[in-house]
Amino acid sequence: MILDIIEKKKNGSVLSKEELENIFFGFQDGKVKDYQMSAFLMAICINGMEEQEIFDLVDIFIRSGEIMNLDFLDIPVVDKHSTGGVGDKTTLIVAPIVASLGIPVVKMSGRGLGYTGGTIDKLESIPGFQVDLEEEQIKKQAKDIGLVITSQTKNLTPLDKMVYALRDVSGTVSSVALIASSIMSKKIAGGASKIVIDVKKGNGALLQKDEDINYLCELLVKIGNFYEKEVRVVVSDMNEPLGITIGNKLEVLEAIRVLQNKQKGKLVDKCLELASQMISLGKNISVEEARDLAKENLENQKAYQKFLEFVAYQKGDINALHLHAKEYAIYAKEDGILKSINALECAKLALDLGAGRKEKEDAINYDAGIILQKNVGEIVKKSDILATVYTNKNIGEIDSKIIFEIA
Ligand code: URA
Repeated sequence: MILDIIEKKKNGSVLSKEELENIFFGFQDGKVKDYQMSAFLMAICINGMEEQEIFDLVDIFIRSGEIMNLDFLDIPVVDKHSTGGVGDKTTLIVAPIVASLGIPVVKMSGRGLGYTGGTIDKLESIPGFQVDLEEEQIKKQAKDIGLVITSQTKNLTPLDKMVYALRDVSGTVSSVALIASSIMSKKIAGGASKIVIDVKKGNGALLQKDEDINYLCELLVKIGNFYEKEVRVVVSDMNEPLGITIGNKLEVLEAIRVLQNKQKGKLVDKCLELASQMISLGKNISVEEARDLAKENLENQKAYQKFLEFVAYQKGDINALHLHAKEYAIYAKEDGILKSINALECAKLALDLGAGRKEKEDAINYDAGIILQKNVGEIVKKSDILATVYTNKNIGEIDSKIIFEIA
């Protein structure tokens, strides 16, 4: 029976909801084995899914757990999700901006795996910070301070969690159908009524082709609307890392610099873009008006005060956030102009330095990572420092040409 379903997808046939339920709930119950599910996921990657199958899969993921009800807050909750990027610390900046304007943000985030970082690992790099909150705690915190970032509760789309873990190790992450159903089931079960999704595009992202990005954006909005959620999608370039740091503690420190108004540039622009969309949804105002509000609360540091309140509420000790790692420099090998910084290669290096996990169970070094010292477009001279890397591992010389293109 399960074999028939796998064969059907392998041959490009459309599956009924009953067939999808059999294989996915069978997997949740342990009757369908990892190797069968991996083969099935690969068949989906290759042959895709029809829209109805994708909607059915969203429903199956949602029904595998419970839905968080946030109606008691009496104002719409806004959520944000990213398809995963390199150096993407936007949640740490955007969520406090939005919450500082009285719009509740309740966000369940993930850990990093492979080349993409995860907000939960970044927050956990703050000594004492609690990432595993129970539903009652989440609700209390949402009411008290209007900002919660926690790891996914046990009961929220547990089947997506199982499937995602398998996708990561079976080369089946980059399927539009699987990405759309994974993201939207989590967002719908998370209880927010308005959602902004940051879809990354480029060498450091899950998807590269315009047609895939466009189809994913269309699907995310369609699925959201079906569940009566307002969804906005922002597409972001991920050929270069976002901001100047990659690595958990370094990224928190950079987010703090932004919230303290000490850093300008592309990262700040992206955060204002995402915050404006969320505020526009939350307050039902134009994106332009929302942007003014976001800028104001970033500049007057109300967003920073909200960040501090949130960290303290989740028991993090911001004053204990110090870096303990050996420092190495990456030098330019020639004179010229810095043409590009390869996001994917930065992510690979950060992983080698210990900032990420190669396997799900790997321990990570929160202090490991990279600080980029030059921006694209800058003139560089031979022997200039292009980046500083932090690690407790013994590393040899790093060839700057793999990451930095100078011409
Ligand atoms: N983010 C998710 O939550 N799921 C995916 O499949 C990809 C990105």
